[in-house]
Amino acid sequence: MTLDARAHAYVTLVTNEDYALGAFALARSLRHSGTLADIVVLHTGGVSAGALAPLLEIGCRLHPVDLLPLSDAFNERHARRNVHEQAPFTKGRKPAFHSPLDNFCKLRLWELTAYDRCIFLDADTLVLKNIDRYFGYPEFSAAPNVYESLKDFHRLNSGVFVAKPSTETFAAMLTALDQPDAFWPRTDQTLLQGFFPDWHGLPVTMNMLQYVWFTMPELWHWPSISVLHFQYEKPWEHDHPKADTLKPLIDLWWAFARGDTIPDIARLPDPSP
Ligand code: UDP
Ligand code: MN
Repeated sequence: MTLDARAHAYVTLVTNEDYALGAFALARSLRHSGTLADIVVLHTGGVSAGALAPLLEIGCRLHPVDLLPLSDAFNERHARRNVHEQAPFTKGRKPAFHSPLDNFCKLRLWELTAYDRCIFLDADTLVLKNIDRYFGYPEFSAAPNVYESLKDFHRLNSGVFVAKPSTETFAAMLTALDQPDAFWPRTDQTLLQGFFPDWHGLPVTMNMLQYVWFTMPELWHWPSISVLHFQYEKPWEHDHPKADTLKPLIDLWWAFARGDTIPDIARLPDPSP
């Protein structure tokens, strides 16, 4: 299949300066993968021009967006303190700069109708191999949410997905989202899992979650990993509680963030089981 770079875009979301750092390393990794597709950064007014400037410099397309037009009651139910109280995160720690409500803004990807297909990537991911062929995958494709045990293979993780922008789909999602009393414990991820019950599976290597490094080391194989996802703690956090355990992954993130020479990823040592 020949891919038309203009029909495709990688899309990420940034609502504050911390995630702008993440998006910068991600954009560097995408360029390193050799893709010619657009890199679109959806950003809210919460990010200063100074924080966005490095993204422009490496050729990202900045696309300003507002948070979704959701009811006050919805916003209250999904405020950080309420989500953390109603659906506590017991497996890892969310950084202080993470706002659950901002996550829903990902759905604005469906408004990018200039593109036939988009691959969404969380701002805390790195693309380690060229993944352009996944623009040929159907909506909705996502990888399993596996980071604790294999029992989660039936759940999706919304940090990486393939989607087809459409005004109609976007409108239908907003309607499904803001129902009276609706509570989405894992925000956009819970909505997407229900909205696309017949979602297509991407390989687990398209969204390798950092905790696999220590929970299921036998699954780790550097040459196979296309996308590395730093779910929970972020590699740029100062008081990172798992900094020692995850050091090789964090070092790799900094190599992209700083513009250092990128090591031969296929030859990095796998974790010892
Ligand atoms: N995000 C953001 N601001 C926020 C929360 C989330 O810009 O306050 C965006 C960012 O792209 C981030 C994604 O939404 O990568 C999902 O959040 P995160 O990656 O922190 O969730 P996790 O992968 O840890 O579940
Ligand atoms: Mn993430």
